[in-house]
Amino acid sequence: MSGTERYEPAGPSKGTITLVHLYPREMSIYGDRGNTHALAGRIRRHGYTAEVVLHDPGASFRRDAHLLMGGGGQDSGQARVEADLEAIGPELVAMAADGVPMLMICGMYQLFGNSFHTVTGQVLPGLGILDVTTHGNDKRMIGPVCLETEFGRVVGYENHSGSTVLGPGQQPFGRVLAGHGNNGEDGTEGARSGHVIGSYLHGPLLPANPMVSDALIAVAAERATGRPFDPEPLEDPLATEARERQVRRLVGTR
Ligand code: GLN
Repeated sequence: MSGTERYEPAGPSKGTITLVHLYPREMSIYGDRGNTHALAGRIRRHGYTAEVVLHDPGASFRRDAHLLMGGGGQDSGQARVEADLEAIGPELVAMAADGVPMLMICGMYQLFGNSFHTVTGQVLPGLGILDVTTHGNDKRMIGPVCLETEFGRVVGYENHSGSTVLGPGQQPFGRVLAGHGNNGEDGTEGARSGHVIGSYLHGPLLPANPMVSDALIAVAAERATGRPFDPEPLEDPLATEARERQVRRLVGTR
C-alpha cells in the first residue's frame, strides 16, 4: 500500500503538490482514503500535478509535503502507528507550525491532540498540535452530522467512542447543527488551529464538501509554487446535491 502516484492535469501543469496520506493501512476506515482521492482529483482539475505519497509506519517521511491527510482507525490501529508517529512527531509539529495544511479524521484527530485515554485504560500520547484531549467511553456516537463552519455547512458521518474536549482557546472545526460532535454535550465538532483541521467526520468528508478541499489546496498550491493559488472554476453538481440534500434532511430549512 505504500508508494507514490502522480496524477497529471489535462493541460500544462501549474506545479506539483505533494500530498502525504499517513498510515493508509492502519488508519483509513469508513472510506477515509476517499479524502485523498478527492484531493488528488481536484488538484488535477485545478491544473496542478498531484503527487500522492502513502506513508506506512517505518518508511522515510516526506518532510517536503505540501498537504497531509490522516484517517480514522480502531483503537488497535492507533496503537500500531504510535511508534512511527512519535518518530515523525517533531517534523509534524514543525510543519504544522510552519502552516502546512493538514486534515486529520477521527483516530488521527485524537492522536493530533494531547492524549487519547482508551476505554481499557491505555494512554496513547498525542502530538499536541491541537489542544484537545480524548477519553474512550462505552457508548458510541454514531450517525449523520451537519456542521456550521467557516467554509459553510459541512456534512458527514461520525462513529466514535472517544469523547473529545477542547482546551481553553482551542477553536472547533464547526458548530453542531445535527449529530454528536466532539462529545455530544458542548455543541462543538473537531478542532482547527491555523491550517490544521481535526474532525470526526467520515463520509468521507471531502467529496461532499469540496469547499474544504479547495481551502486546503489553496494553501498547498501557494506553498508548492511560491505563487498565489490559480484555481479553475470547477462545477461539482453531484457534491452540491448530496450536501444540500443531507442538510435539508438533517436541519430542514433552519
Ligand atoms: N478508536 C477511536 C474511537 O472510537 C477512533 C474511531 C474512528 O477513527 N472511527 O473513538
